[in-house]
Amino acid sequence: AAAGTVTDQPGGRYNIKLQDTENGVVTRFPPEPSGYLHIGHAKAAFLNDYFAHDAFSGSMILRFDDTNPKKEKQEFEDAIIHDLGLLGVQTKKVTYTSDYFESLYELCQKLISEGNAYADDTEYEVQKKDRYERRPSARRDRPATESLELFKEMRDGTEIGKRHCIRARIKFDSSNGSMRDPIVYRFPSWDADEGPQPHHRTGWTWKIYPTYDFACPLVDSIEGVTHALRTTEYADRNEQYHWFLDALGLRRVYLWDFARINFIKTFLSKRKLTKIVDTGKVDGWDDPRMPTVRGILRRGLTVEALREFMLKQGPSRNVVSMDWTTLWAMNKKIIDPTAARHTAVEIAGKVLLTIEGAALTPWKEDRAKHPKNAGVGTKVVTFASKVLVELADAATLQDGEEVTLMGWGNVIVKRISKSADGGIECLEVKLNPGGDFSKTKKIHWLAAEGTQNSPAQLWEFDNLLTKDSLTKTDEFAKFLNPVTATMVDALVGADCEGLVEGDIIQLERKGYFRVDKAIGKGPDGKAVMFKIPTGTGKV
Ligand code: ATP
Ligand code: MG
Ligand code: MG
Repeated sequence: AAAGTVTDQPGGRYNIKLQDTENGVVTRFPPEPSGYLHIGHAKAAFLNDYFAHDAFSGSMILRFDDTNPKKEKQEFEDAIIHDLGLLGVQTKKVTYTSDYFESLYELCQKLISEGNAYADDTEYEVQKKDRYERRPSARRDRPATESLELFKEMRDGTEIGKRHCIRARIKFDSSNGSMRDPIVYRFPSWDADEGPQPHHRTGWTWKIYPTYDFACPLVDSIEGVTHALRTTEYADRNEQYHWFLDALGLRRVYLWDFARINFIKTFLSKRKLTKIVDTGKVDGWDDPRMPTVRGILRRGLTVEALREFMLKQGPSRNVVSMDWTTLWAMNKKIIDPTAARHTAVEIAGKVLLTIEGAALTPWKEDRAKHPKNAGVGTKVVTFASKVLVELADAATLQDGEEVTLMGWGNVIVKRISKSADGGIECLEVKLNPGGDFSKTKKIHWLAAEGTQNSPAQLWEFDNLLTKDSLTKTDEFAKFLNPVTATMVDALVGADCEGLVEGDIIQLERKGYFRVDKAIGKGPDGKAVMFKIPTGTGKV
């Protein structure tokens, strides 16, 4: 397409402006390797992926924005690459802002030489006040040669160098605060107890680092990025972004702003997420209660639902706290048509039911795993004259009542044996072939004979926070939900033996579950299953 045309590409959801580019559209996803990807990052990753691969046939770069050596680690880089894979987001190449440190240094020299930047040793607080009051720095008119000398001192980390930073000479009294001579190079501020740290890729080579404001537009332009997607908090800095490219005679990049996403009762700040992992509030970055990509997928969210949800938000600029229910409801629509149906009976208080009229020798029958989708396949169900039902169901039955044993048929309650304390010991029922299903209570069951049932832990989770959204002054520890996980021990039938980690099933009358550990693989050989929210009820 021609330069500057607004097109509505076939299959494109958004009205995206195309630039004339030799290699088509190039986007980039620029995480800082200082934590695991969370659901907010997933939005950015999906949008970049969509622009690059769905709306246009272009490519996407994964760029590690590693200009802050204090927080960055290899572990996080590996995790980010892995998690983008989980999301099905394809990257053409992986780059690092640190690959460009030498070029960025030279471009900063150029900026200084041409009178567009200067070395400043004004104290931080004074600098801040000057900016606020739109006053020029006392060093603003320093000759370029002097600033270049000082930039060299900074690179060498000399005493005089250490007192300086480099600032762009843009417009100290601009109505846009980001244009008031922003910092382009600086010494990182180190934690007092740790002192300077080596950069995880460049080691001790650099003592000074470019700021994000300076590095981002330059690297975008150098790498051939055509469309840079940024969250709306950066909108004020778009002017500055273009200024750097224009000042250095570099190719402009098209900016597209989108809203940051938040979820109620959830925090996405890396600092807070790190804290609950480090304090053992959750079991790790992939804990199903975590809003990380790993956590939410482990809880049973499908990539398909997540992607569709995020792309629907698209170019909206309203920063809102989304309700989880909408996302989980979308997920349910995706998992329901293919989730195999199985049965689990809670162990605590389970009741033995004896069925008069059933053959005394247990037998097996094939049954569809899904009532409406034969493609899901069949399972082998064991039938026996003795079956297990849940106490919660047994307790509701009356003498003479007709109930339906799911997948079998109707029975009539003949005898309810109570123990001394009033609990139910066992039940006797009689088969009633040809009974009417329309008004009866439906009860799930497992054969108690002729098969091997297996133990399984059924987990259900809750939000980490008790408050919808925290304000700046809310101390987050005060709003941590004290109970975020509950578990019941259950038995599952032999038809669950083929389940593997990651399978999504429905346990009749209990809901959807994701198999986290197959039978034999969890604690004491128990299977582990996580309940998947559906957007109704809790969460
Ligand atoms: P930022 O730099 O915006 O503060 P961050 O430091 O939390 O984000 P980065 O690793 O820098 O995380 O983010 C990588 C990309 O993900 C950036 O493009 C960033 O804007 C985007 N991103 C981060 N959090 C969210 C969110 N909650 N919603 C949408 N996009 C997000
Ligand atoms: Mg960042
Ligand atoms: Mg952040």
